[in-house]
Amino acid sequence: MTDDEYGQWYRNHVAHFPEFDAWAARKPDADAITAVWRRTLSRASLDDATDATIQLYGRDTQSPYGRHAVIVAGICRDQERRRRQPSRSRYVDGEPTYECLRCLDQGRVSVWRRKSMDAARNGTLGEGFTVYTCAVACDCRAGEDHGWLTRYDPAKMLLCTPRESHEAELQELRDFVAAMPAKTREPQEWTPN
Ligand SMILES: [Zn+2]
Repeated sequence: MTDDEYGQWYRNHVAHFPEFDAWAARKPDADAITAVWRRTLSRASLDDATDATIQLYGRDTQSPYGRHAVIVAGICRDQERRRRQPSRSRYVDGEPTYECLRCLDQGRVSVWRRKSMDAARNGTLGEGFTVYTCAVACDCRAGEDHGWLTRYDPAKMLLCTPRESHEAELQELRDFVAAMPAKTREPQEWTPN
């Protein structure tokens, strides 16, 4: 990014995180921080960095402002790497094969959110505003490209898998929650919101 492009990225970033600018300005060494950010993002393209800001904005949890430049730069590197890699899918006898059958090498899977797990636990799953899913990074190699997402943990999260009916999907979550060992039933620590 040129200085000009950095300025563009910064304005867009502040538009997503309005408090970011005020936070930076309050720092006694604001100029030094800006210089570090500028260097951290020097290899990223404006397009990638702008996309990365949007991804960061859409994350489940808020990252500390002091880490934003590092996170944005990391997402940009992931995007760059993904562009360089050939598609992971291979064909055997004309059929696509995948290294990971869970995410089909997409690196992301859909799991039930904490709200839904809580609802399954207290018997209200299926009522209004109780059915939510979110994306987490698969625990395979492709998932490493989505490092800003929570990592999938099969012991604690249930994949949202299409079943023959919506009710069957809900029942699967109820069964999963009921079968969880008591010590992992407090999901605040790990479940995506
Ligand atoms: Zn996977």
